[in-house]
Amino acid sequence: MDERVIEPQDQKIALWRGVKGRCPRCGVGKLFRIYISQNTECSECHEDLSQLRADDAPPWLTIFITGHIVVPLIVEFARYEVFAEWIETSIVLLISFLCVYLILPRAKGLFLAGLWWQSKH
Ligand SMILES: [Zn+2]
Repeated sequence: MDERVIEPQDQKIALWRGVKGRCPRCGVGKLFRIYISQNTECSECHEDLSQLRADDAPPWLTIFITGHIVVPLIVEFARYEVFAEWIETSIVLLISFLCVYLILPRAKGLFLAGLWWQSKH
């Protein structure tokens, strides 16, 4: 075990490291290789990450948050006809894509860090 590793003393610290895509144990190594492809081991502290399985929780959280952003927008567009239909559709699709792209890796990091914390405490 590396002596320089500062393990989180608080679950919030571990979860925040996960949201940032960092190893929940050391906060330095990357949790993901590419986008949401999970590393099996931390490159810095060599913590085994292969047993952590977030399964459907990250997509669930991503859809939950994205839905709360996009659905009110769709309702407003339907009610007031602000722009031409093709523009409204384009805006909704762009915001949906951006929400999923930005939220999914952070949600996966959050759940992986939570699972890591539960396995250690
Ligand atoms: Zn690490």
